[in-house]
Amino acid sequence: MQIHDLSLQNSILNTFVSEIRDVEIQKDSMRFRRNIERIGEILGYEMSKVLNYKKSTVNTPLGTCDIPLLNNDIVLCSVLRAGIPLHNGLLNYFDAAENGFISAYRHHKHNPEGFEIIVEYLACPNLENKTLILADPMLATGQSVVAAFKALKPFGVPKEIHLVSIIGTNEGVDFIQDYFDEKSQLWIAAIDEHLNDKGYIVPGLGDAGDLAFGEKLQQ
Ligand code: URA
Repeated sequence: MQIHDLSLQNSILNTFVSEIRDVEIQKDSMRFRRNIERIGEILGYEMSKVLNYKKSTVNTPLGTCDIPLLNNDIVLCSVLRAGIPLHNGLLNYFDAAENGFISAYRHHKHNPEGFEIIVEYLACPNLENKTLILADPMLATGQSVVAAFKALKPFGVPKEIHLVSIIGTNEGVDFIQDYFDEKSQLWIAAIDEHLNDKGYIVPGLGDAGDLAFGEKLQQ
């Protein structure tokens, strides 16, 4: 898997990542969602540089102009619920994409030491020969994105796979390397130091789903 860690180069992306991490600024959930969306737009833009293009000609009021245009059949799949604003950001740029949604949550009941990932809801178009963009904002252990990917298997074999995440850990990145082939690419805004004993990324940002949409009753 090729890893594109965008934190290795300074850009305006730092501002948005800093705001979603900031314990005060992140309390504004509308700003939090919009910043996640802006990060999705930037990650999508960076990814667009390695996609396929075909020759195209556009008629302007004054003549014609040759301009290569995107030639990928993109399916954008996101892991709910924190994936929604990230999905919106990617879709702002890949507006012709088909869309899929997967619910994945951590279930602690049968495993007090850790958790298992439960995939309950899945809506996805055909993936055969398409460019799959799989978005999961927090790549903590890597288990949810792998569970989502496994659940997508019956929908066909994609031609290309791009994973999109905002904050990950080395542990999460190492874990997913075993499941995705060397041609797959990861687009990520930051890779943090470690996970705490509750499975949260440190320093991370807290619970992305709660910050975007409010606290839930479930643990
Ligand atoms: N999911 C989150 O929302 N935050 C983390 O730190 C890890 C997983």
